[in-house]
Order: sequence, then structure tokens, then C-alpha cells
Amino acid sequence: MIVVHDVHTHNVFSHCCTDRTASTAAYMQKETELGMKVFGLSNHIWDESVKGCSYWYSHQTISLAEEAKASFANAPAGLKCLFGAESEYYGCFDRLGMSVEGAKRFDYLIIPHSHLHMRNEVMSDFPEIIEIRKRIEAEIREACPYLEDDTVKVMMSSLKEAHLKKYVPEMTTDLGRFNVRAAIDNFLALVENETFRQICKTVPTSIAHPFGLCGVSNSLKNGYLQLIDDATLHDCFARAKKIGAYVEINTGAVKECGLDLAHNGLMRVFAIAKEEGCQFTFGSDSHSVKALEVIKVGNDVCKYLGLTPSDIAEYLRDGVIE
Ligand SMILES: [Zn+2]
Ligand SMILES: [Zn+2]
Repeated sequence: MIVVHDVHTHNVFSHCCTDRTASTAAYMQKETELGMKVFGLSNHIWDESVKGCSYWYSHQTISLAEEAKASFANAPAGLKCLFGAESEYYGCFDRLGMSVEGAKRFDYLIIPHSHLHMRNEVMSDFPEIIEIRKRIEAEIREACPYLEDDTVKVMMSSLKEAHLKKYVPEMTTDLGRFNVRAAIDNFLALVENETFRQICKTVPTSIAHPFGLCGVSNSLKNGYLQLIDDATLHDCFARAKKIGAYVEINTGAVKECGLDLAHNGLMRVFAIAKEEGCQFTFGSDSHSVKALEVIKVGNDVCKYLGLTPSDIAEYLRDGVIE
């Protein structure tokens, strides 16, 4: 089976896109050159009707993102274009960045549970970081009593984990287990979230890069994935299947774990999802025109896992060739 769809792409609208040539028009052109039949644009979007997003998300709203749809009118012949979004799930607050009403404005959605780099939103700080953060904040307040509360908060929020680690005498937390626990807990909480369940019934929705551990260095990812046992993965995907959520095979994330698929930790994850009867969608997670090429890894994954068209989400059946 050949994959001829890519429904996880970010153009210049997404703040993490570094390729200034990554316009919707350039993507449509490149997808055609790659032989794709279905192209889905899925920028990072937080529904502006939902309160409580970070500053980063505050300018990545549905209304602003919708402008891109106008470009679809100039799509090359033979390329079906879908308007989607990669929204967000803040595990720390059980908060979804998309309402059911907002979801209706899209052809499909992808929702991640593993943007673990979004500390204190998707995943909490490590315990040692929480401690050192408290200590520094207390010392700033004591040394500078004239600083207003919001000023101190801004100062503290600028101190990221990498800075703070320098002041921790010893990190005793098992970082692998801590990261993996957060990913598992978020997955289980996401599939229980009532808004997410409603959205899955409203528009085709995939769990984006399941167990793709964002923020963890690539060299550690396979090792961390081994910390998740089969039973836990079976439980996660059985629940996803039950509520009608699709599972994304994110070829960018696959590449990060290594192109030797026999030693790629994500293959066990997808194989278990398949055993549970989940259906899949493919996406490159491209943030540049060039990176759209990574979707080709999907063909190797199909072969490795023995996927057939019936394993693909209904709405993308014309996005695969048998
Ligand atoms: Zn993502
Ligand atoms: Zn993405």
C-alpha cells in the first residue's frame, strides 16, 4: 500500500515554522510533485473561544488560520485539500484547546497528548525544578520587595528548565519514567475528556504523534519508549478505538526514532494500536517545504506493519493506493 495523503503539515502560520517559503501554495505544489492526492493543512491552533492558553498560542487562532482556506481555490488538479488543525491538550489542567463548536469549522483535527516540552501546561516540571524555582522566586521577592507580583511572575516564567538545572545539586528523578508517565497519563486523560469525545463524534479526529515524546532528545526516545509495557499501550489504544479516535502515524516522529524500523520503538506502539483495531492517518509534521518529503517513510511503515486500506481512516480512503 502506498500513502498518498499527508494531513499533518505546518505552513508559515505556525510560529514554529522556520521556512519563510512555506506558503500554502508552495505546499500544494510540492505535494503534487510528491504524488500526493490528499493534502491537509494542520497548523497549531488554539480555539479563541477557549480560555487559558499560553502566549504562544494566543495568536494562533481559528479566525486567523482560516485565511489559508482561500488558497485551496488554486489547488493543482487532482489534489484534494483539507482544512485541519493540530490543536492542544494541556494535561496539567485537563484543558483542550478546541471547543466542539470550533471543531465544526474544520474538515478534520489532530490533537496531541505529548507536547511534553510545554512544561506546566502539557506536563509538569520535574520535582527538583519545582523546588529550585520556588527558592529563586522567594529570594527575588525578599531581595526586591518593591517588585510587583506580575513582574516577578514574568521573571520566573522566563527561567526555563535548562537554566534552572544548573542550580540543582543533583537530579534524582528518573527522567525517562517521569516523561513516559506524563505521556501515558495525558493519553488516558485525553480519551476521557468529554469535549474530546464529542469532537471525535463531530469531525474525523486523530491523536497526533502518539507517544512521540516531544522535548526528549532523539537519542533517548527509543530507550524511553521501552519503559512503556505492552498492557498499557493496549489499554490506551483500546480506549481510543472505543471513542472513535484515529491514530496518527507521524513520519517525522518515526524518522526521529530511526529509519531502521526493526529497532524503532514507535513500531511496537503502532502494531499494538493495529491489534486493538485502531485506524490510522499519516502526516509528515512538516514545518518546511523540503520536509514534506518525509511522508515517504509512511510507505515503509505500511510494509513493516502490514497495513491495508481498511486500516486507514474512512475519510482518507482516497489517500492510499493499494
Ligand atoms: Zn505536535
Ligand atoms: Zn505538528
